[in-house]
Amino acid sequence: MSSRSFVFIKPDGVRRNLIGEIIGYFEKAGLKVDKLQKIEPDEATVNKHYPLDDRDYILTLGHRDISGLSDKELKAFYQKNLEVVKRLHKYVLSGPIVKMILIGTENPVAKVREVVGKTNPADSPKGSIRGDLGIDSFVKSDAEERACENLVHASGTPAEAEREIKLWFGEDFNVI
Ligand code: GDP
Ligand code: MG
Repeated sequence: MSSRSFVFIKPDGVRRNLIGEIIGYFEKAGLKVDKLQKIEPDEATVNKHYPLDDRDYILTLGHRDISGLSDKELKAFYQKNLEVVKRLHKYVLSGPIVKMILIGTENPVAKVREVVGKTNPADSPKGSIRGDLGIDSFVKSDAEERACENLVHASGTPAEAEREIKLWFGEDFNVI
């Protein structure tokens, strides 16, 4: 199992001066910062990170249960999420981000997700980054035709972490 996870602090977190506070949540949970860099994200990397041509990825966006949807509903859901990914590109490219690799002994990917909270800050528990520091919601951001500003990206699975570390840090998964 992967002993690392990949995170970036999104432009809203950097703009709101929350870099130190966000990293503190990870450190207090026992995770260690292995690599860290503030960067201006480039379009090509963001396009690969949030692909527009991967149907399965588009359908899992937002982590909703789509098992009961009819073909017509599924099509509408796909189109809506495709739009969200385009908005997501704009959001992540709107300013500097802070990318990092976090390490931990026991399933750091799941630990990081727990510390981060749910995708929608409005649904995130107190004590989590998005629950405590988030000021946006799906309802508000959808109405304003933007991606939901939720402060951080965190890998969803160990395989996603490996892919993302390679993409953003240009290296293969390698335990130090
Ligand atoms: P994450 O892994 O928790 O970041 O969530 P996803 O990978 O499913 O989605 C990527 C990002 O897209 C989220 O972090 C949000 O910024 C945004 N997002 C996802 N679903 C929605 C939605 O339904 N509405 C809006 N406005 N933004 C969304
Ligand atoms: Mg995700």
